[in-house]
Amino acid sequence: MMEIYHGKAVFGGIAIGRLSVYQRDDRQVKRKSVKDTAAELDRFHNARKIADRQLKLLYEKAVREVGETNAAIFQVHQMMLEDDDFNESVENIIKTQKVNAEYAVASTGDNYSQIFAAMEDDYMRERAADVRDVSGRILAVLDGNGRTTGENNEPVILVADDLAPSETVQLEKDKILAFVTVQGSLNSHTAILARTMGIPALIGTKMSIGRDLEGKLAIVDGFAGSLYVEPESDILVEMEKRQRADKEQKALLQTLKGLNNVTRDGKHIELYANIGNLKDMALALQNDAGGIGLFRSEFIYLESQNYPTEEEQFRIFKAAAEAMGGRRVIIRTLDIGADKQCDYFHLEHEENPAMGLRAIRICLTRPDIFRTQLRAIYRASAYGRVAIMYPMIISVEEVRLIKAIAEEVRKELISKGIACDNVEQGIMIETPAAAVMSDELAKEVDFFSIGTNDLTQYTLAIDRQNPKLDAFYDEKHPAVLRQIQKIIDNAHAAGIWAGICGELGADTSLTETFLAMGVDELSVSPGHILPIRKIIRETDLS
Ligand code: PEP
Ligand code: MG
Repeated sequence: MMEIYHGKAVFGGIAIGRLSVYQRDDRQVKRKSVKDTAAELDRFHNARKIADRQLKLLYEKAVREVGETNAAIFQVHQMMLEDDDFNESVENIIKTQKVNAEYAVASTGDNYSQIFAAMEDDYMRERAADVRDVSGRILAVLDGNGRTTGENNEPVILVADDLAPSETVQLEKDKILAFVTVQGSLNSHTAILARTMGIPALIGTKMSIGRDLEGKLAIVDGFAGSLYVEPESDILVEMEKRQRADKEQKALLQTLKGLNNVTRDGKHIELYANIGNLKDMALALQNDAGGIGLFRSEFIYLESQNYPTEEEQFRIFKAAAEAMGGRRVIIRTLDIGADKQCDYFHLEHEENPAMGLRAIRICLTRPDIFRTQLRAIYRASAYGRVAIMYPMIISVEEVRLIKAIAEEVRKELISKGIACDNVEQGIMIETPAAAVMSDELAKEVDFFSIGTNDLTQYTLAIDRQNPKLDAFYDEKHPAVLRQIQKIIDNAHAAGIWAGICGELGADTSLTETFLAMGVDELSVSPGHILPIRKIIRETDLS
């Protein structure tokens, strides 16, 4: 029997495929003291044997389905299970610290994957993920949970009650056709990630998620916001037709690649992409981004199990700078906190996390983390056109303090003979305080980027995470639009440029308004670049 559910559409498009219910990996590994270490050692070795059998079966299945070359990875994993160093490290932790096998495996896995991740050699570096995978497999067995990764090859429509940003970034994106969540609001980072991936997604979908959905055929209509489970054949045929039409439409937009973002009367504006990691970079390039207007660097933290090192970050920023080949790459310093929580930061529970210790406030409280990131960014600047952007700014004093820290970091690097290029420094205008003070702030920095997501939530006092407030939420509220105009005017008066990197910048019904306001840049998820280019080229401001 066909069932239809409705949610809020985050990104247009039609996806047809099987449903897969998201399984939360809430296997939090706890450190427990044990008396009987011999029993823990046995548990570990047993788990290893079971993991080995699982891998053998997986290998055989994969050889049949995807061929020997692609299957080889499971043999590599089997070999890792035999690795003496790894096993000795686990045994040693159990024996000397008198702790549970889970903790010993998880710690060893973390240590090894970090060591691999820091290696120069590309091949070795990629092994970091394999180490995590293998230790995850042993942990799953220890947990009595046979669930393993890497078995599902068919891309699916993922359904979940909710997805945290840290979970969304860890999804294997090429295995997901679309996603549907029960919770979530349009400006949540989960929604933003779906937009970046350019896949149809529904949030706030009224339905109950049960195992019975697993494997059922479904259609996500990302235009109408509908999910069809076990669609009737006429709907399926109709949706297949629309899917083809949508693909043709998107192909047509590709003809705009290589063209300028210039209005009929000759005004040019920059169209940049918002990204969260290097994988998104491919989307930015495919969609002809003129630069990266917002690299949400906190996603590097969300994807890690521990503080990413200077080296790891440097490599990512360098790759981004090189990939953009001289086009601007604006790296926003980490905006951890609020909905983007990272366990290893050990942030205390807050009553109002959106107004709490987040973003630049963490950086100023914990300058070691900030300096590590700044060093990585400055070092990467020698490889392209890198700019830094600071989030959640509220005052001129704060900006001066940050600039002083950045300058110290730069000088330190130069004194060590490390090349740094000229790095533009800008700020996000995403608090009402920054909007009000934008005339003075403009004298301190090289550019402004307006973060309408937060600016709107703070201006309207409406939590961007709370779907119950959607009825009150007006993203085009005049209080927000007036501030945008004022911010742009103040930027221009001081001779700097101003762009928009919040989701509102991608709203094509406002493109003309923003152009008339004099905006210099719009930074949007990659899939929105070409549709906006089309509008810009059709607009006549005179
Ligand atoms: C914003 O607040 O508009 C913004 C771009 O930053 P984020 O969505 O990551 O908070
Ligand atoms: Mg923000």
